[in-house]
Amino acid sequence: MFDILITGGTVVDGTGAPAYRADVAVQGDRIVAVGTLDGATAVQVVDASGKIVTPGFIDMHTHSDLTVRADARGWSKLRQGVTTDVVGNCGMTPYPVAHDPARAQVLRESLFAIAGEVPWGWDSLHGYRETLNSQGIGINLAPLVGHSAIRGAVLGFDDRPATAGEQDEMGRVLARALDEGAFGLSTGLTLPPSAYGDTDEVVNLCRTLARYRGRLYCSHTRGDTVAGPTGMREAFEIGQRAGVPVHLAHMAVNDPRRWGSAGEVMDELDTIAIAGLDVTGDVYPYAASSSGFSQCLPWWAQSGGRLDTVARLKDPATRARIRADMEANGLLAGWPWHWDRLLICRVENPDWAHAEGMNFLELAATRGVAPIDAALDLMRDDEGRMQVIFFYRTEEDMQVFLRHPRIMVGSDGSALTVGGPTGVGRPHPRNYGATARVLGRYVRDLGVLTLEDAVHRMSGKVATRLGLQDRGWIRTGLAADLAILDPGTVTDHATFADPHQYASGIDTVIVNGALAMTRGEPTGIHRGRVLAA
Ligand SMILES: [Zn+2]
Repeated sequence: MFDILITGGTVVDGTGAPAYRADVAVQGDRIVAVGTLDGATAVQVVDASGKIVTPGFIDMHTHSDLTVRADARGWSKLRQGVTTDVVGNCGMTPYPVAHDPARAQVLRESLFAIAGEVPWGWDSLHGYRETLNSQGIGINLAPLVGHSAIRGAVLGFDDRPATAGEQDEMGRVLARALDEGAFGLSTGLTLPPSAYGDTDEVVNLCRTLARYRGRLYCSHTRGDTVAGPTGMREAFEIGQRAGVPVHLAHMAVNDPRRWGSAGEVMDELDTIAIAGLDVTGDVYPYAASSSGFSQCLPWWAQSGGRLDTVARLKDPATRARIRADMEANGLLAGWPWHWDRLLICRVENPDWAHAEGMNFLELAATRGVAPIDAALDLMRDDEGRMQVIFFYRTEEDMQVFLRHPRIMVGSDGSALTVGGPTGVGRPHPRNYGATARVLGRYVRDLGVLTLEDAVHRMSGKVATRLGLQDRGWIRTGLAADLAILDPGTVTDHATFADPHQYASGIDTVIVNGALAMTRGEPTGIHRGRVLAA
């Protein structure tokens, strides 16, 4: 007698191999049988006739670190069949936390935009894991450790090079997080304070990383320039000099002058791979990105953290310098400003709530000022927290990345739940739809990927990359993380205008052997764990 028996389904097992008919049995937190199980009995029998049974999806790139602390349910992910989120991306992690209270506060401030105000109560990855595991979470998390957090703990959020002694200390702090089970190191090289580290600093950290075989260097790169994918080349250099595997986060061509060059980018990646670098990447199936507007401000203006940035915006002379720098240098790595392509998606200040859903041209028109002034006014009044969506990508480039054999799927989104503290603002639809969109739009509707290939890029391929031994495939003995979907109906519903819409077509989700969703509804059972490498 099994705990759960899934009968009559077609198994897509996460390896990329062709689908096959099989029943799947679960006992405790494990898959205990896969095959024809006629006559078997179970406490709960799930009829999967006409449906596809897959491994629970592993989202390679997320920012759910604190959203599941704020609201453990994580229904935006469960309803997409996601059972594990990789967290700690883009250099940003809620650990390690500095002993110095002021530095700890700057770290908390820097992560506020992701989940609002949440209780922390830990100072390390170990403490974070203990806290979330005892709280209970709806999905598993596979944590990286972030460069910004490490740098912030050792030398604060100041815009200056790290001394040799500080770099040694950062290496020790990194080693502790790796000892505690971090799956790799992430950088966010357009996001201070990670952005304040130069190539040599990241190479030094990655030399520590190299002592932990298979742990990844996950790079949100320094960005592209009109001269080409220079940020990607820096990541390659870091990987080669330190001897670590490189994973490129949220691959995209963002500079409008380089749109259409995704094929050249991947040719360059293939060339370096053939030369011996172990390199992969992830992409999400949208032609827009999202982050804090702070990314658009000069790095020097962000030294010291968010509240220092706001103080500079309040000082007329400093604000004028910020404005002049932004006009002269463009957005991020020098992309041209297209204010109509920047959509305001979340503000905290209720006086500016009307701005949510507007682009900066529209906002500027309501105020009778230039778009850059509307943006800086809002940034100042919102105390540096404003989130925006950047329509700086093309569908064609995205599809080139999605199809490439070294690419897996990573939403760059977070586990959110409608009606709770995380279901606020107008976030990017990727939070609710990325995985379902791959299965519906890019597998069924457009035929960009086969079902087996898409599932592989969202489960087994990610597990292999992370070095996860016991989940990511449907196989006897592995952790029972499973999803059952209807390939004819699986659909994402979240849009930029109306993002808080759950995906549909995934009716049953099992996390560590427990039914987290059944008959299309979450059960409220929180069996997720913070995993360890
Ligand atoms: Zn990023």
